[in-house]
Amino acid sequence: MELIDTHCHLTFPELVDNIEAVLQRSKAAGVTAWITVGTDNAENQKAVELAEKFDNLYVAVGIHPHEAKNVTNDDIKQLKQFARNEKVVAIGETGLDFHYDFSSPAEQIRLFAAHLQLAAESNLPVIIHSRKSFEETLDILDRHGTGVGKILFHCFGYTAQEAKIILKKGFHISFTGQVTFKNAQKTREAAEIVPAEKLMIETDCPYMSPEPMRKQKINEPALLIHTAKFLAELKNIPPEDFAQTVTNTSRVFFNLPQIK
Ligand SMILES: [Zn+2]
Ligand SMILES: [Zn+2]
Repeated sequence: MELIDTHCHLTFPELVDNIEAVLQRSKAAGVTAWITVGTDNAENQKAVELAEKFDNLYVAVGIHPHEAKNVTNDDIKQLKQFARNEKVVAIGETGLDFHYDFSSPAEQIRLFAAHLQLAAESNLPVIIHSRKSFEETLDILDRHGTGVGKILFHCFGYTAQEAKIILKKGFHISFTGQVTFKNAQKTREAAEIVPAEKLMIETDCPYMSPEPMRKQKINEPALLIHTAKFLAELKNIPPEDFAQTVTNTSRVFFNLPQIK
């Protein structure tokens, strides 16, 4: 089985302090490529530096909606610089999070629109973080996302009905280990209707270890195999076939070269 962790935060201290061992365990488990996702410019800087050191490690650069209230025009300029790095394969994570109100809706919307503009200019896909803001996220995408080629809703937590709307728009959907949790019936119903060709998987580590490893407090890319096996079973697809399909989907979506 060969998998790509399409959304991890390898620059966070829980992981970066042991990065060699973390990546080694990941490869041993069959998770052989990674997209580490920036959440502010300090993390984007670290992510780009980390990607320069390791093969098959790619970067998404973005400023998380939680940080929106602190963002200046200079931050956006710096983000544009990062987007030019050859290991950067996406813009994000960006979007709207009305669950935690760390920044106001107006601040989040402004920052989200700036990311969409940057993605269009740099011809890169966008990784969307959207929580308790389904209508608003689609509204901003309609108004500011027309020049963006490819869109991925990460850590999908909406319903099957909402998944259908997203698929109809041509977007992709990614699931974390959250889908394996006992109380995640709604997410499982959504995962059931997303075709494997439109689906990706991610750890979003260091958070949210999948079952049966949920007790492991620090999640890491190696644990992605549990989410892969779980979803393959849920969707009644042989695990090898499922892995091949989602890996291919991820490779094409992010325009990744062959794994070295
Ligand atoms: Zn997120
Ligand atoms: Zn994330």
